[in-house]
Amino acid sequence: MKGKKLALHWKIILGMVLGVGFGYLMIQFGWGKTFVQDWIKPWGTIFINMLKLIAVPLIIASLIKGVSDLNDISKLSKMGTRTLGIFILSTTIAVTIGLVLVNVIKPGNLITDSTRTELMESFGTQADQKMVQAEETKTKGPLSPLVDIVPDNIFAAASSNGNMLQVIFFVILFGVGLILIPKSKADPVMKFFEGVNEVVLKIIDLIMLAAPFGVFALLAALVVESPSFDVFKALGAYAMTVLLGLAFMIFLFYPTLIKIFTGINYKTFFNGIAPAQLLAFSTSSSAATLPVTMERVEEHLGVEKEVTSFVLPVGATVNMDGTSLYQAVAAVFISQAFGDDVTLMEQLTIVLTATLASIGSAAVPGAGILMLVIVLESIGVNPAGIALIFAIDRPLDMCRTVVNVTSDATVALLIGKSLGKLGPPKVKDWDDQKSQLK
Ligand code: ASP
Repeated sequence: MKGKKLALHWKIILGMVLGVGFGYLMIQFGWGKTFVQDWIKPWGTIFINMLKLIAVPLIIASLIKGVSDLNDISKLSKMGTRTLGIFILSTTIAVTIGLVLVNVIKPGNLITDSTRTELMESFGTQADQKMVQAEETKTKGPLSPLVDIVPDNIFAAASSNGNMLQVIFFVILFGVGLILIPKSKADPVMKFFEGVNEVVLKIIDLIMLAAPFGVFALLAALVVESPSFDVFKALGAYAMTVLLGLAFMIFLFYPTLIKIFTGINYKTFFNGIAPAQLLAFSTSSSAATLPVTMERVEEHLGVEKEVTSFVLPVGATVNMDGTSLYQAVAAVFISQAFGDDVTLMEQLTIVLTATLASIGSAAVPGAGILMLVIVLESIGVNPAGIALIFAIDRPLDMCRTVVNVTSDATVALLIGKSLGKLGPPKVKDWDDQKSQLK
């Protein structure tokens, strides 16, 4: 019976809960950890690889169609400027919320000297590694982010998921070329990519059938590999501050913006985007989640491809509200834990550097803490302080990635509405979608 079928997000939640439970069960046995790492974790890795595998073909096919459907270049530049404007605005708001919370709660003052020493000793090596990586990012010149966007070889660029912006750059150029040539010549090319796009979307549907099993494996592995619960307790106040800010963004800020500007209600929005949010949580990677975010926003929330194909891939790479909020809280927390006051001027510096650092963070697990090094240095705090928050970074990474993905979806809805490219969803629920597979 149709009504009895579980919606996809419930199946994923079930997979997550069972995965956590299974992980806990396994750590009770001496052999449990190795068993999960050898026999369960690889399935999670395969699932993430499948998602990443589809990202570059999806961006190419859907953005070429998206850009050429816009028909004229002024529309493209209008969308581009609006999108970047909203990205920067929402990121700045997120940083400000993080700063307000950390200044009110002051979690750093709750860390005792002995806990601080213990954490610095236990996680010093990992912190050092991140600092070396951050140093490599920093030695580049001021215009290097721009230079990095322009590839010198499209095949080399498309061969790494980390080069998303380079691929986007080429594809936009290609789309602009398509707009400018005679329609009779452009049509077959567009039809080809339209077909490729359909195929890719169908592959995403297939991959998503495995999502509940994939997240089961990912979470079971996370549980067996996580540090002891005691460390979590020591960092409880800090984690709560970050989580409070992230929860505010997810449950209040974005749905309210969406309600006001598009009229879409809370339930419709969450039903549409939940599977992408749950995947963001399980994978800690906006890039791995991207194919699903695109599919959900387009098919389930009704934003047209012209908008999703541009806003979402660019957003996954540069728009990270969750990361910037976390970086602001973490920077002030570390400074408080070292007994330093953060002046108003330094707080303003954090607004700027956390916004830029989040733009510079890659859409992969653990990228946020790497760029935090730069935020800390900008306010004169010893970057080795990241050792203090290392133990709890993964769970917070999972949550901030949900915010990053939700924020991208929100911006796509707002831009879609403002350009008249928001219509009724093509697919209302997952079961309709699944029946198309038969
Ligand atoms: N994992 C985050 C993302 O992929 C980035 C971060 O580490 O904050 O969006």
